[in-house]
Amino acid sequence: MRGKCAKIRFDVSVNPERAPRPSDAATELRMRTQRQRDTQCELEIRRKLHRTGVRYRIDCPPLTDCRRRADIVIRPARIAIFIDGCFWHKCPLHWKAPHRNSAWWTEKIDSNARRDQETSDLLKQRGWLVIRVWEHEPADAVVRRIIKAICSRRPGWKNSVAASSTQQAGAE
Ligand SMILES: [Zn+2]
Repeated sequence: MRGKCAKIRFDVSVNPERAPRPSDAATELRMRTQRQRDTQCELEIRRKLHRTGVRYRIDCPPLTDCRRRADIVIRPARIAIFIDGCFWHKCPLHWKAPHRNSAWWTEKIDSNARRDQETSDLLKQRGWLVIRVWEHEPADAVVRRIIKAICSRRPGWKNSVAASSTQQAGAE
């Protein structure tokens, strides 16, 4: 498994030889990438999740021997959450190839989708629960889904959260 993981490269850089018009495509890619992190929907999900008492790490690799990162990692329950942007991860409802350099973009986004699948498979093989959500999904529904998953993997979890919040209230 280590060998397999080592071969997988997380690569969002542009291969200039494959870009039909490097300046156009690369600039567009850079602009899109800059908007990719900490998106509004990601922040909203994190905020709502935090309010429920769930503690998590953001943007970090679930596996110690593999560099692939998940958007939200709940390590005790071994849950990796990916909030997939509709453009970058090829949402079936919203994805459309840009007019310019359409073939190049299609190939690029297809390879992202393949890599997403590989990452999910790898994590599942290692005993993780993978939750992939689209950025267009309502945050409340996403958070409910996450809570349900935690409860199924850690049955005592709700009680321990309730107990710790009671203690905090008592301490104040
Ligand atoms: Zn979408």
